[in-house]
Amino acid sequence: MKKQIPVIGLEMHCELKSNSKVFSRAKNAYSEIPNVNISAVDMAFPGTLPVVNKKCVADALKVSLILNCEVPEYLVFDRKNYYYPDLPKGYQITQMAKPVGINGHIDIEVNDKLIPVLIHDVHLEEDTASLDHYFDTTTIDYNRCGVPLLELVTEPCFHSADEAVAFIEHMRNIYRYCDISDADTKKGEIRCDVNVSIMDEDSKELGIKVEVKNVNSISGVSETIKYEISRQTKLKEEGRYNEVVQETRRYDEETGTTIRMRSKEDAIDYKYFIEPNIPKFKITEKWLSILKNEIPKLPLERKYNYLNNYGLSNYDASIIIKEKAISDYFEECLKLGIDPKVSANWIITQILGYINKNDTSIDKISFTPSKLKELTDLIASNTISSKQAKDIFNKVIETKKEIKDYLTENTQISDSNELETIIDKILANNETQIKEYQNGRTNLFDYFVGLVMKETKGKANPVLTKELLTKKLQG
Ligand code: ADP
Ligand code: MG
Repeated sequence: MKKQIPVIGLEMHCELKSNSKVFSRAKNAYSEIPNVNISAVDMAFPGTLPVVNKKCVADALKVSLILNCEVPEYLVFDRKNYYYPDLPKGYQITQMAKPVGINGHIDIEVNDKLIPVLIHDVHLEEDTASLDHYFDTTTIDYNRCGVPLLELVTEPCFHSADEAVAFIEHMRNIYRYCDISDADTKKGEIRCDVNVSIMDEDSKELGIKVEVKNVNSISGVSETIKYEISRQTKLKEEGRYNEVVQETRRYDEETGTTIRMRSKEDAIDYKYFIEPNIPKFKITEKWLSILKNEIPKLPLERKYNYLNNYGLSNYDASIIIKEKAISDYFEECLKLGIDPKVSANWIITQILGYINKNDTSIDKISFTPSKLKELTDLIASNTISSKQAKDIFNKVIETKKEIKDYLTENTQISDSNELETIIDKILANNETQIKEYQNGRTNLFDYFVGLVMKETKGKANPVLTKELLTKKLQG
């Protein structure tokens, strides 16, 4: 058999963050308690009308811009008609004819190499209610009904599970950088339909694709792709490629396999038409340029900046861009003039170490970039060693103290002139004890040391104190 090339296309759904739902005023939030974040619109009560949430449209347009898509002149929604208990209206409001973005592309990194990903379209739609199946009952929770959902449809442009996973992770990071979504797979905020086919190496035509619906974890996407590639390849090897048919399957988490649900012949005709209850809305150049300006510098751009202009290693740069807050912290350090590699080292070893140990995040800790600047300046001027700096870091981050205050409170007095003045003052007030000492009560020595420690709040260098005291008491 000829060498087989796997081909994969993704439909990636992501729930967007917003105060209210995409077409109603109900709260857009996850709740353990069913049916609390709902409104008459979500329940499809007669006479209710959708009102488009502008923030959701803005976020969808941002993603469209990031993916270098063509944006339509007008915002238009379509009705996708089908019946299912999780869809009280009997249709889903989505975008079919004029999505917020078409024909896009974006480069992503896979094992440190750039690959281009082609985007068929990006569209905004509403999520459905969720069904919970029990032994002999099913319950419906309408909290999710009407939650804004952004769907990205890629061209069949991936050739391995690694590439598809890299794309999902890349987009997840972009959503987080833009604060469009937490993109948390654990909360079901990302769900993918995974399309997989194989073809002969020299073929001009794509193979028969199988669609695996609703895979809701990144590891699930990876397993799905690997399983489908091997299942289809094996069938082809055995001369049974006719058994690979256009069908919808589902991923089974327990076995890591996919299971047939329905064939494409049973495909539903959704009878799409323009949603008549939402007037078309002009997407102006002005609005688009405002949105463009709101997009922060994205992870890959930041990474190349750190590699090319600040001499970071690939490893360090990759860690720093993992979260926007970490990358922002790093850039603040650069602005303050801390050496890039020194900053990166501190962030990666000390700061992230502390954060992981204490289950907190970089924007919540008291140790700001300006504190790091203070500390690294002290090392640079040889005032403290790097070992001392680490000790000071550990103390200061715990106590939230200013470095200056911590140093004044904790630095030893090791200047003999300063200590001598203090000792002289103490001795002047203890003439009787000095005489007793000199007459043989040598255990009074500790009494004098104690007085010095009390006077200096324990900061006197003990070795030097004893040395000076011995000298002075000998007369
Ligand atoms: P459908 O008509 O079944 O909805 P589309 O052509 O609209 O199929 O594509 C849906 C998804 O399937 C897209 O993500 C696309 O990239 C992917 N896809 C299409 N053809 C193939 C193929 N031969 N192999 C793998 N993925 C494919
Ligand atoms: Mg869809």
